[in-house]
Amino acid sequence: MTTGAAVQKIPDPNAGVTLITPSAKMATPTHGGRAKCLQRLVRLDLPVPRTVALSFDTVHAIAAGQLPDIAQMLQSFDGNALLCVRPSSEDPDWGGPSAVLNIGMNDDRLAILSRDIGDEAAAALYLRFVQAYAIHVARLDPDQFDEIEDTGRAGLRTALLAYEDEAEEPFPQDPAVQLREVLRSMARAWEGTTARLLRQAKGAPVDAGLGLVVQEMALGLGRGECGSGVLQLVNSETGQPLLTGRYLSQSQGRDALRQRHRSLYLERDPRGASLQDVAPEAFDKLLAYADLMRQRLREEMQIEFTIREGAVHILDGVRVERSARAAVRIAVRLAQDGIISRPEAVMRIEPRALSELLHRQIATGSERDVIGRGIAASPGAATGRIVFSSAEAQASAARGEACILVRRETSPEDIRGMHAAVGVLTERGGMTSHAAVIGRGLGLPCVVGAARMGFQVQQKTLVGERGRIFHEGDVITLDGTSGEVLLGSPETIEATLDDAFQTLMGWADAARDIGIRANADTPADAATARRFMAQGIGLCRTEHMFFDSERITPMREMIFADTPEDRQAALAVLLPMQRADFTELFRIMEGLPVCIRLFDPPLHEFLPHTRAGLRDLAEALDLPVSDVTRRVEALTEYNPMLGLRGVRLGITVPEIYDMQARAIFEATLDASRDGAPVVPEIMLPLVSAKREVELLRARIDAVAAAVRAERGASFTFRLGVMAETPRACLRADEIAPHCQFLSFGTNDLTQMTYGLSRDDAGRFMSDYVQQGVFAEDPFHRLDIDGVGELVAAGVRRGRAANSGVTLSMCGEHGGDPESIAFCREIGMDYVSCSPFRVPVARLAAAQLALREAAMQKTHER
Ligand code: PEP
Ligand code: MG
Repeated sequence: MTTGAAVQKIPDPNAGVTLITPSAKMATPTHGGRAKCLQRLVRLDLPVPRTVALSFDTVHAIAAGQLPDIAQMLQSFDGNALLCVRPSSEDPDWGGPSAVLNIGMNDDRLAILSRDIGDEAAAALYLRFVQAYAIHVARLDPDQFDEIEDTGRAGLRTALLAYEDEAEEPFPQDPAVQLREVLRSMARAWEGTTARLLRQAKGAPVDAGLGLVVQEMALGLGRGECGSGVLQLVNSETGQPLLTGRYLSQSQGRDALRQRHRSLYLERDPRGASLQDVAPEAFDKLLAYADLMRQRLREEMQIEFTIREGAVHILDGVRVERSARAAVRIAVRLAQDGIISRPEAVMRIEPRALSELLHRQIATGSERDVIGRGIAASPGAATGRIVFSSAEAQASAARGEACILVRRETSPEDIRGMHAAVGVLTERGGMTSHAAVIGRGLGLPCVVGAARMGFQVQQKTLVGERGRIFHEGDVITLDGTSGEVLLGSPETIEATLDDAFQTLMGWADAARDIGIRANADTPADAATARRFMAQGIGLCRTEHMFFDSERITPMREMIFADTPEDRQAALAVLLPMQRADFTELFRIMEGLPVCIRLFDPPLHEFLPHTRAGLRDLAEALDLPVSDVTRRVEALTEYNPMLGLRGVRLGITVPEIYDMQARAIFEATLDASRDGAPVVPEIMLPLVSAKREVELLRARIDAVAAAVRAERGASFTFRLGVMAETPRACLRADEIAPHCQFLSFGTNDLTQMTYGLSRDDAGRFMSDYVQQGVFAEDPFHRLDIDGVGELVAAGVRRGRAANSGVTLSMCGEHGGDPESIAFCREIGMDYVSCSPFRVPVARLAAAQLALREAAMQKTHER
């Protein structure tokens, strides 16, 4: 099949065939990482067998049928040597075809090698080559070759016969033909559709090239001490210094280099000889080479080596595979040892990978029986028994049994259940739905919008995507990092915030030039925010303080109050609660800024939905259920997200915000009396007109004056606006002069810009993303083209009208690295995100500053 692209000029395939020498022209973008790394090893004077590198262009030409001069290539090598070919892509994560070893093996070579290394070993080598060639090069039926049970000559005979039978020709004996076919098959494999899609999924560009390296094999076979192995100086899971590796000694016939700690070098392995025992000089050399590679390649490397008659050969060096935790420790140790700089250590860690450290994760390689998928709303892995109600979740927690709360969606009535559960799974909702926001706040793994699963909550069954039925009590695992729902309990790895993590974050903070705050509503959130070194609270959603089932009733009483007297009574109950809440937050934050958003309760989140809820409220209000039901119906809005919420509630029922302002000011005085001075920030939600700000500013100023007079004490505060309606962004020039800060609420702004309900988006978001309608879920990554244009206009206009205004973003996007880049670029002062995303945001922001500084340096040169 042709790709339809314009006819490309095929480059001369011989031009890109280069023997690797210290001075050969070779670079990762043209020859791939492996070729470049081998050249570095050659430059370090390590004993690397002769290697020829084929550039991306040459491999591309081979795939198109134009082969380089194979005979000439073979002249680079010792005529008796066997060869291997390995892939060399630009980024090792992009994969590539498997290596093919022992090229050149044929009947003649078998006879020679038999004399050298013994008949059995020589025949085994030939057999392995025939098998690999048959499967990967000639593409014959793998079953025929994988299942050969005989070894030695007998096995070889079977394989050669099977080859002849299947391929209808004898096994090729000419090393040139063998090499040509190996090169051709590897080049073509790279250009296949599946391979291309797989690497693109890992971030490779469409036209990513493949290089190949052809290397003389240094067989770990012979008469003295011979063998082959790999070795690295760190543990891949933890990053701690630990000599780790495998060594298969042909002479000893067993694995002689076992895992051992550096300090145990001299300790004899009780189960047998170690490499150090059998070849002490080779062992010392290997350690010296490994250390040299670490120093000069500035990376922890795994060495692939062979030992032949006591002599060491280094076949390859690859970056040590590592968990996120190990990556952090490795980068920090390299910097502490003066091998790389601190900024470089900061740049080496992918910010999103940090969430692996902050949350328990499913261990890589553990089995995943996926029964459903949804939106990965809050990261981490959680295993527990299915429960379908908040009450069951609490009962389960009381029994000490971990449970997953399964709901169609969650509402404030589920908060207790969410606290009791180890994870939450919902049918509906998107990145900013109730379950998602609360889940992230609590650090609770959460998958939402799993609409392809069946949620039969009444019947207490959950139906998997392929029709499997699960009941209450069945054990499932949520992977809130990938959005998958798994059956059973796969192995997990605990979260770790070790000293290396703290060190790296300290270095990141030194480089960062945009502030990072946390969205925190409760003392627990605030404590997490402090632990992750947030520079304050950027958004405290005060209505969330009433999600708790014990507290929701006074909130409902306030919403339900019909007369000013009833309302005053309800507010009198809320005031001390709020005062105490704020005092505690101020104390925890110890003088750091705390931005308190006045109530923004979308009414559907606070009205009872169930009969039991209606009954409870009727009891609390001492009214007949029928009255309460009628009142709920009267308050019900068709679209509560665009209804009487936020500042609209503040304008129509001003006593509510008066009460909150009073609670904030009284708490300010209380907390400042015995702690660091507090300057509270009060934020008005859902503003769309400057008049809203004018009216409320006057009332809040009046409350401040009253509190000052009553207490005989002074304090200051800052008043700000949450810019989360398109109009607030467009009219920021009118609004900004009336406030000290503007915080862009990109959750609502996204909802309103797209005309897409944040609670319903989950129903079709994955289809939209899969079909490329949206590149990403816009509730997850800020839509820079659309929503971003409104934000940028708001920033520009706001700042032009009030140069001292503080600008920030507090939607969920505040924790997303790409969105942070945008905020920084348009000149925001800080971003605010869920507490558990604070470290990711700190690191991402530091990298942006470092990258910019590096670019500036390059320009100056
Ligand atoms: C927003 O709308 O972006 C926001 C932060 O507020 P909430 O999610 O509470 O509506
Ligand atoms: Mg909002």
